Amino acid sequence: QAKKKGDNIACFFTESMNEEVSRKTLLEIGLQQAHESGELTLYYQPQVNTNTGEVIGVEALLRWEHSELGRISPAEFIPLAEESKLIIPIGEWVLKEACKQFREWLDEGYELGHVAVNISSVQFQNRELPEVIGKILEETQLLPEYVELEITESVVQNTKEAIPIMEELKQMGVKLSLDDFGTGYSSLKYLKDFPLDTLKIDKSFIQTVHESEKDQAVIDTIIKMGNRLALNVIAEGVETSGQLDYLKERQCLYYQGFLFSKPISKEDVQRLLFKGRVS
Ligand code: C2E
Ligand code: MG
Ligand code: MG
Ligand code: MG
Repeated sequence: QAKKKGDNIACFFTESMNEEVSRKTLLEIGLQQAHESGELTLYYQPQVNTNTGEVIGVEALLRWEHSELGRISPAEFIPLAEESKLIIPIGEWVLKEACKQFREWLDEGYELGHVAVNISSVQFQNRELPEVIGKILEETQLLPEYVELEITESVVQNTKEAIPIMEELKQMGVKLSLDDFGTGYSSLKYLKDFPLDTLKIDKSFIQTVHESEKDQAVIDTIIKMGNRLALNVIAEGVETSGQLDYLKERQCLYYQGFLFSKPISKEDVQRLLFKGRVS
């Protein structure tokens, strides 16, 4: 009896493992053709001035509509793309697509401040990154200050390689933003040594802002520090007007979040952002 039960468990366990493996394999294979077959698209989330409601930029976010599996979250497929290094061509496509779109908007007379693009640590290890970006800027005839690269603390763990690349990008005039601040190693040294323009407070802090004084102490300190270092501070994941009020009061100048808008398609950007002022 006991043995039989054990067999069943083993069998069940193996099957579910198989399932996981095959989804992963399916996604890996799918990813390879995804951007050629048009399954990858960019959505854009507005970045907003907390006081005026003015849009100061948009962040480009990858979306993948798998033909059979439906929409796959970047939280699931970006790590796979990094593992297989596919993130290099995909990341290049993202940069190009975001810049082309921004150029198109400018040509139509719409000025959205900047477009922010997430850069994986794998892309950042690639010494050719500044050259790749330079080419894209040339092709799209965009001023470098229209582009803000979002990197995470994992990028900069490799300080020796990362700093020269960051400096090269800065010299080109591209802006640099530290994403998800507070969730990684959060070394204050990064803030001091890296040529950053922007600091993004991770959404996990914002979402608990009304839960405890400890949470508030941490947020307050990040905002103050960012302001003192003359960085633009953007709070991520703002969902309630209570959270927004808190940020305003603490002089956090910018935010992103579902409260203002979810990430939206380029068509919706035109519909929602280009029709007068949204506040
Ligand atoms: P991220 O760069 O920190 O992007 C912000 C994420 O927070 C987005 O998730 C966005 O949809 C979500 N978000 C924004 N406002 C709210 C809110 O009010 N509430 C909640 N709950 N969430 C909010 P998304 O689009 O699923 O992307 C997840 C992560 O995947 C991104 O985090 C980024 O690290 C990565 N990613 C997305 N696109 C790219 C890309 O093109 N390249 C690279 N390397 N990574 C990307
Ligand atoms: Mg980001
Ligand atoms: Mg990110
Ligand atoms: Mg983030």
